[in-house]
Amino acid sequence: MNIKTIFQRIKQRFHPTPALQDEVVVRFFKLLEKVRKEDLPCDKMYTQLDEFVEREVKAQDATKLMPLIQEHLDCCSDCHEEYEALLDVLKHTENDK
Ligand SMILES: [Zn+2]
Repeated sequence: MNIKTIFQRIKQRFHPTPALQDEVVVRFFKLLEKVRKEDLPCDKMYTQLDEFVEREVKAQDATKLMPLIQEHLDCCSDCHEEYEALLDVLKHTENDK
């Protein structure tokens, strides 16, 4: 049994209407995601992604220095893909030196 199933069982035991609960939670997270994206839209994000990845490769504390970028990466799969690709390229170029 995986964690999700256990969680589902516990939830069903304590909440007679789990479907409604889920819907509320999902709506809340979607709202949160929207607010975060408005804080830092994707196009603005891209302009800072280079710097963020560069810091990370040089083992500087990118997450602490640029927390908004990290937050955006956590909730935006598009930018996260971009970030992984960029990180990959930069790591390889660093190794070639
Ligand atoms: Zn994004």
